[in-house]
Amino acid sequence: MMKFHAITIFPGMFDSYFGESLFRRAAQKGIVSLRTYDLRDFTKERHRKVDDRPFGGGPGMVLQVAPIHAAVHSIEQGIARGAKKRRVRTILFSPRGKKFDAAMARRLSRYDDLILICGRYEGVDERVAEHIADEEVSIGDYVLSGGELPALVLMEAVSRFLPGFLGKEESLEEKNGSFPTYSRPETFYPAAARAGSRPKKKGWAVPKVLLSGDHQKIAEWRRRHGAGA
Ligand code: SAM
Repeated sequence: MMKFHAITIFPGMFDSYFGESLFRRAAQKGIVSLRTYDLRDFTKERHRKVDDRPFGGGPGMVLQVAPIHAAVHSIEQGIARGAKKRRVRTILFSPRGKKFDAAMARRLSRYDDLILICGRYEGVDERVAEHIADEEVSIGDYVLSGGELPALVLMEAVSRFLPGFLGKEESLEEKNGSFPTYSRPETFYPAAARAGSRPKKKGWAVPKVLLSGDHQKIAEWRRRHGAGA
């Protein structure tokens, strides 16, 4: 089983996504699990503060190294208490990290436990990247408000490489790459749909080959129009 451990100041953000659809099914089947850790539970500060001003000045606050260190240490100890030796990788989300892609997702799917550190505010004390995380990961060249969405993106992309995570339908794309798909009607008349009238203008038709029943031609069309997985 792949165990995800997400360290965040907003644990509730994970509940709805992980509690639905593929994740819920995979969790029920024992393929994945997610445990969230509220970073504020790992501070000794009496107001449960986990951020402070940056040295050198500048706007915003920075997540401190001490609570993150305590959280990761506690998770690692919990993992080490288990009967079997497990492969553990600690990831820090950062817009300056290595760009996430399918190859990285496949590589990370070979670990048993992924510890995911979600930054917030102006970011995370750099000593987390230097001494605690095994790698820094970016999900794209843009800046988000926190690492929670990147963590969900990573969890889903990694999980798709775990045996049994995908149902039969979804795994087709995994095998053949991503390609355009269409469903009924064969021709859609947008103006008529709006007016509730009979179609006058040309509609939006499905490519003929997909209606041909010729599986070889369909596979060839999908190859030509698709992107590799
Ligand atoms: N100036 C900060 C920096 O350079 O890291 C930006 C911090 S950002 C507002 C807050 C947090 O969101 C980051 O610490 C990181 O965990 C997460 N984050 C934002 N954009 C991201 C991206 N593209 N990929 C991964 N994580 C991201």
